Order: sequence, then C-alpha cells, then structure tokens
Amino acid sequence: MKAMKAAVAHAFNTPLTIDDVAIPTINDNEILVHIKASGVCHTDIHACHGDWPVKPKMPLIPGHEGVGVIVELGANVTHLKKGDRVGIPFLYTACGHCDYCLEGKETLCPDCQYTGYHMDGGYADYCRADANYVVKIPGALSFVEAAPLFCAGLTSYKALKVSRTKPGDWVSIVGVGGLGHLAIQYAISMGLNVVAVDTGEERRAQSLKLGATYFIDFKKEKPEDEIPALLGTGVHSAICTAVSKAGFESAYASVRRGGTLVLVGLPPDDIPVPIFDTVINGITLVGSIVGTRRDLEECLEFAAQGKIKTDIHIRKREDINQIFDDLEKGKITGRIVMDFES
Ligand code: NAD
Ligand code: ZN
Ligand code: ZN
Repeated sequence: MKAMKAAVAHAFNTPLTIDDVAIPTINDNEILVHIKASGVCHTDIHACHGDWPVKPKMPLIPGHEGVGVIVELGANVTHLKKGDRVGIPFLYTACGHCDYCLEGKETLCPDCQYTGYHMDGGYADYCRADANYVVKIPGALSFVEAAPLFCAGLTSYKALKVSRTKPGDWVSIVGVGGLGHLAIQYAISMGLNVVAVDTGEERRAQSLKLGATYFIDFKKEKPEDEIPALLGTGVHSAICTAVSKAGFESAYASVRRGGTLVLVGLPPDDIPVPIFDTVINGITLVGSIVGTRRDLEECLEFAAQGKIKTDIHIRKREDINQIFDDLEKGKITGRIVMDFES
C-alpha cells in the first residue's frame, strides 16, 4: 500500500487524527491530485459534527478547498493532463444528464455528491476527483491564494449573482468570516454598496478597509434598526453567511420591500418565515448552494485580475482541531489555509 498523510474524522464530534492512509485509486473518469494547499471552511465543522439532515460518510477526510497538481489520469480523461493545476470544489460530481445538469445548474442535480462529505476531500496529500468537475487555476494565482476561492469565493460570488441586485443597490453582508469578507469584495467589484454585519473591532476594520460603507456590530446594535436609520429603508438584498439563527432573523428583517434574502450560512436550526410580512412586503427568499463550474471560473478570474484578495492565515494540518475550535469561537478573520508545501 502506498501511504499518505491525511486529517481524518472517525466519528461525529470527536477530534480528527492525522493518519497514514492509502493513496486513493482512481477510476477511468477520475484524476489523482497531489494536494498543495487546502482551505478550511465552516462546512467542514458541520460535517464532522453531523449537523445537517444529510450525513457525511465516516470515517471522513474533510475539505473542499483542496488545490494541487494532477499526477494521474483515468483512461477516459482527455481534456486534462498531468501537471495541470486544479482545485476540487464541494461539488465532487453530478449525473450530467438530468434537467438541472442539462440546464447548467449542476449544483441542483439530485444525484450530485460532495467533496469532503460523501467523498474524501482535500485535507490529504492526495485526493481523487471527477475529471469533469475540477476547475483549472489561473496562472496568476498561487495554490494558497486559489484554495479559498474554491468554496468561500465561489459561494459568495454566486450568492451575489442570485441576489437580484444591480449596480448602485445596497446589500448587507451578514457574517464577515471566510465567505463574508470575500462577499464584500465581490459586491464592491459588482458596483454594489455594502453594509457589513458582524462583531468586533477586527472585523469592523477589515470590512471598512475592503470597501463596506458601514459596519454594524450585531452584539451592540440591531442591524434591522440600524440599517433603516442609515439608509432610510432596508437593503435591496441581505446575504446571510452567519452560522446563527439570530443572524438570519435579523437579516430577514433588514430587507426593504421587494427585496431578497439570500440564505447561505447553514446553522443547524431553522427560522420561522413570517408569512404575512413576506407576502405584504413582497420578499424573495433564495437558497444558494456553492456554484457551478462556470461560476467558479468567473470567480477565479476576478481574483486573477487582482480585484479579490483573500485574507489568508497559514496554519498546519496538525493543528486542525485547534483550527476548528478557533473557527467555531469566531476567533478567525478571513480564511485559514493549510499549506502542505511549507
Ligand atoms: P466563518 O466562521 O468563517 O464565518 C461566519 C461568520 O459569521 C463569523 O465571522 C461570525 O462572527 C459571524 N456571525 C455569527 N453570528 C452572527 C450574527 N448573528 N450576525 C452576523 N454575523 C454573525 O464561516 P464560513 O466558512 O464563512 O461559513 C459560514 C457558513 O456558510 C457556514 O454555516 C457554512 O457551512 C456555510 N456555507 C454555505 C455554503 C453554501 O453553499 N450555501 C458554502 C460554504 C459555506
Ligand atoms: Zn465550503
Ligand atoms: Zn444531474
């Protein structure tokens, strides 16, 4: 057996261990990627906790921001070559022939599978991937720079695309974490005005530096009161990435008549949707799940052109349990990337 190192979750709510495991074997439609860097998404914590109705495999190698170099190609793979730099996003695979896949909405495919969830992911030296669902990394981006874009960048970008906003509109970015601090930058690049909502001086400074017009500290002020005080009315759209039921309730109440709440964060608990207010105010609720390969190419291009820059903190894979703990406690600004080359 050829072995590699990986961070492995063996059961829900137990610490991960760094194990020697077999290097994955690939089928004819897959590739093997030598992982160079891997971002840490809050979703990885939800997976390891079994937070959601659909459970991941166990044991599990988490991670869906793994990027690296192709070292092996399945017999049917002709559009990629060894040495190509690619990332393996959350959407590991989809069926390719259902209504959604045919319409270019592969994230809605009922038969889709998720990386670092149904399939082992990027917290490993090597990761297998469906050749048709990886995306190439633009030459202008290093592995470390590219990693967080494969989920945090993609998801933020897509959420804004479905927010039914246009340049000049106001959006609130609720939750300025890994996703949110990139959402601010994509929003600014799209010509939107931003109200950022999170807590603490560090996130305030970061949000304003990234171009938000206002920052509201949800621990000190109620965004649903403060936003109308600042804008005269609610936002055209609220993008909620907060891992918090209260954050979603407040985001809902911050949207103006005719506006849109985009649900992105995935706290385990639900919010009751007020029927009367939603009807009378003509509110649209949109669920947004990662993004397609095309969205990913677009989102990477923004970064390749220097319009988006992730606030990256490099940590070691051996520290993964501490990283999870820090992320859960809100101690991390920007995104943690584990750099396997350093
Ligand atoms: P993160 O921990 O980096 O960021 C979450 C942020 O929310 C933190 O900055 C925290 O301080 C803030 N927050 C908490 N309560 C808040 C409140 N009441 N109001 C405003 N902000 C609040 O996490 P992340 O990696 O950015 O992921 C965020 C969420 O998005 C997770 O639940 C994750 O699973 C989910 N996610 C969804 C998709 C998708 O496709 N929909 C993709 C990736 C991640
Ligand atoms: Zn993610
Ligand atoms: Zn399909």
